[in-house]
Amino acid sequence: MSKILQSRILQCLLLFIVATSTVNAKGLNAQVEEQMSHLKKTYLYLHQHPELSYHEKNTGQYIAKRLTNMGFDVTSPIGGYGVVGLFKNGDGPTVMYRTDTDALPVVEQTGVPYASKITTLDKSGNKVGVMHACGHDIHMTTFLGTAHYLVNNKDKWSGTLMMVAQPAEEVGGGAKALLNQGLFKRIALPDHIVAFHTHANLPAGKVGIAPGYIMANVDSVDIEVKGISGHGAYPNKTVDPIVIASRIVLALQTITSREISPIDPSVVTVGAIQGGSKRSVIGNKVVLKLTVRSYKPKVRKHQIEAIKRISKGIALSAGLKGDLLPNIIVYKNETAPALYNDPKQTAEIKASLINVLGKHNVIKTEPSMVGEDFARYGRTPDKRPITMIWLGGVKPAVYQESLTSGKILPTLHSAKFAPDYPLAIKTGVNAMSKVLIDLFDKKS
Ligand SMILES: [Zn+2]
Ligand SMILES: [Zn+2]
Repeated sequence: MSKILQSRILQCLLLFIVATSTVNAKGLNAQVEEQMSHLKKTYLYLHQHPELSYHEKNTGQYIAKRLTNMGFDVTSPIGGYGVVGLFKNGDGPTVMYRTDTDALPVVEQTGVPYASKITTLDKSGNKVGVMHACGHDIHMTTFLGTAHYLVNNKDKWSGTLMMVAQPAEEVGGGAKALLNQGLFKRIALPDHIVAFHTHANLPAGKVGIAPGYIMANVDSVDIEVKGISGHGAYPNKTVDPIVIASRIVLALQTITSREISPIDPSVVTVGAIQGGSKRSVIGNKVVLKLTVRSYKPKVRKHQIEAIKRISKGIALSAGLKGDLLPNIIVYKNETAPALYNDPKQTAEIKASLINVLGKHNVIKTEPSMVGEDFARYGRTPDKRPITMIWLGGVKPAVYQESLTSGKILPTLHSAKFAPDYPLAIKTGVNAMSKVLIDLFDKKS
């Protein structure tokens, strides 16, 4: 080989090194900053086009298209309107990142210029507003921003990135449907599983994390109380289901206060009572709608058995029997198991978060009694480690003001929940990109 040729090859090699290093010379934060104007547009589009659980067709197609354009191998629809994107990038672990995609039947009252104006018909044919009141639009935008970063920085990691956009989280059905349709068996079995949820009482710019149990078992239960109807002026000729239901509501309060150990978390809430038609009519049915929450399986079992025992016992004491005893329905499709953050993986993720956001921006959060079907991905026989992170959503100034004034901030699901989306998304993409890259165990 001539000297001239050698030096030309060397020159080309140098040029190549310079060119490739400029692609990724910018740090994570600078690359996220460059994406921000595009991510803000993505958020506004998703915020203004919310879809209810089991109706996330357009949202699913939008995500599928974006992942396909980035070079992911996309499977969609799966598990309803779910989307799974695989990006194979050499040897290494499979890391799954999940976002949820559904919105809620809430009329937005934030007053922001980009508020959702979408309406639809509910199951009963009533017109309802639709709003991303649980922050799933922030989740999806961050998910797409993180996918973009990982693809553009594929020299920094090796393995398979598994992006899962899950529908029907709000009704606890999406994770189950994806798993039933072979998410782990047919598509890929991940080694690590992560997700985050927006937090309505944590300032944007900060994240929260904790090992072990962080969210509760959730059961949805209906009690159909029966009675013998008649004229309101002849109560002695009837058995009034409203009186029986009232006794049941009060007696249910003793499950948590007198039957469960005070050391074990337990909630039994009657969220709706439906019965009666007219002042002068004693009806024959009242329906109580309950949400029941716990951490331990034995507490969960005790709660359900106590609800049945107390309801039937009170109906028996009113003289009802046989077919007239209450019917208790435990909705199998509207449940979520307690969410357990794998301690080892969560400690590693916490270290990544501190590394990228600084120690003062990583808060240890307390467990709560809300539920999330993300828990199911860690409950399969494969026993894969999962970690759910909290992402601060509140405008920092609004949060500070609430601390001094004592004003209660709008919660998740509130019609007035208006997160600081640019700061939350920027923090989210930085955090999730670093977390994923570290889980792939490569240089970052
Ligand atoms: Zn929600
Ligand atoms: Zn949510």
